[in-house]
Amino acid sequence: MGKCLLRNCKESNYFLCFDRDEGKFIRRGTNGENPFWNVIGPELLDISITNFCERECDFCYRASNRHGKFMSLKDYEYIIEQAENIGVLQVALGGGNPNQHPAFIKILELTRKHWIIPSYTTNGQGMSEEIYFATKKYCGAIAVSWYPPYNDAMNVIEKCHEFGIKVNIHFMLNKETINEAIDLLENHHIDILKNTNAIVFLNYKPIHTSSDLNLKFSENIDKFLNSIKKVREFKIGFDSCMISYLAPITEYFIDETVEFCDAGRFSAFISEDLILYPCSFYNDTKKTGIDLNIHSLQAGWQGGTEFTKLREKLSVASKQEYPIELCERCQKYQICHGGCQVFDINRCER
Ligand code: SF4
Ligand code: SF4
Repeated sequence: MGKCLLRNCKESNYFLCFDRDEGKFIRRGTNGENPFWNVIGPELLDISITNFCERECDFCYRASNRHGKFMSLKDYEYIIEQAENIGVLQVALGGGNPNQHPAFIKILELTRKHWIIPSYTTNGQGMSEEIYFATKKYCGAIAVSWYPPYNDAMNVIEKCHEFGIKVNIHFMLNKETINEAIDLLENHHIDILKNTNAIVFLNYKPIHTSSDLNLKFSENIDKFLNSIKKVREFKIGFDSCMISYLAPITEYFIDETVEFCDAGRFSAFISEDLILYPCSFYNDTKKTGIDLNIHSLQAGWQGGTEFTKLREKLSVASKQEYPIELCERCQKYQICHGGCQVFDINRCER
């Protein structure tokens, strides 16, 4: 497999360059404007191959548990063939705890066979030597969830270092965990971080859990953002669901690395039941997904109701009402596009 892929997405008016080894990505609009979406298909597919998880954490947005279902290998192959045909470049395997899937190594191999780079997020349980070997062979990077007890995460970081695998920490940020995040940033736990590629902060989504824990109710958001501004020793990333929190400090970031919600524009989610949604957080809500047993992946992407609705909301505000009243007067609107259009998780009030 070549290291860099250069693609002319002419139907979508942009070029893309994707470094398959490093996972780095550049899009450049052919008409001088930032590309808004890929009309052929997503660049990234988030696939839940199981809703099984032995940890059964009470904050899990999927309510994953020990009775969770596994996607069949046949269904996975059915998706991945379609994904290759519509130009998907990366697959993020999630769950549940994806590495507990009985055919996990086969899934990694199959993904790569279709010229797509897999990555996954683990809670650290069930990571065998064979899985580390396969990860090194097939994956771009992995992420480990950061919550107590931390020894599982620490073991994964140590093993990834041993195997030469790029590993990120996924830190779920809410009203309760923000103080721990500040501590991690301020007190530079270098021993933990020296073998880690980056800490990626994920905005809390109250799907099966209480909205009282929403990040916006924390009194320490500015303190957290100040800690972010000071970090020089290691890399920090965020999910695009954090954009309304970062909008006030975007001058601290390189412009090209800042992106508003890309669900339904460049990424999509498929559940273990083969239901397609713009992002994983639609699952288990009242929103209707697209059944891939009936419709093709491309048809769902191009014409699914939730996809077209979300793209309409995220498109320039002149074509629609502003999602939040404040957005109309906000100088950061072009960067943020109103944050999350689906869940009440933005810093700014609706
Ligand atoms: S729709 Fe909301 S929750 Fe989903 S990816 Fe976009 S910002 Fe995040
Ligand atoms: S007011 Fe709207 S555009 Fe401005 S930061 Fe808040 S959500 Fe984003």
